[in-house]
Amino acid sequence: MESFGVRTESRNCLVDITAKVRSAVAGAGVRSGIAFIYVPHTTAAVTVNESYDPDVGKDIEDTLSELVPANAGYAHSEGNADAHVKATLVGACAQVPVEDGDLMLGRWQGVFFCEFDGPRTRRVLVKVLKSAE
Ligand code: ZN
Repeated sequence: MESFGVRTESRNCLVDITAKVRSAVAGAGVRSGIAFIYVPHTTAAVTVNESYDPDVGKDIEDTLSELVPANAGYAHSEGNADAHVKATLVGACAQVPVEDGDLMLGRWQGVFFCEFDGPRTRRVLVKVLKSAE
């Protein structure tokens, strides 16, 4: 199991973690398999989307905030119910095929850590499952 930290700088932000995930996959030493990328937090998530234009991440963040308002009479008394709902909508894990020891991402794709209750120091786990060959 590989892992790395992510320091987020605002309450809501998408952070491109592709290079860190690639390093973790290289560290796992698996040539062919599946990278299972997992966020062990209840108010953060992970997704794969366009990394070429940073406006895409901003649009995702803004759209989620429109869909899930910060204050909407939630039952959860901690004051971060919106962050929990966003985390569930996006999801705690992503899977990417691995070949020749590297992520098989599309040309424009990247892996994003999605912060919904920052700024915080977070953790990402990467488990590379080896394929039967
Ligand atoms: Zn909470």
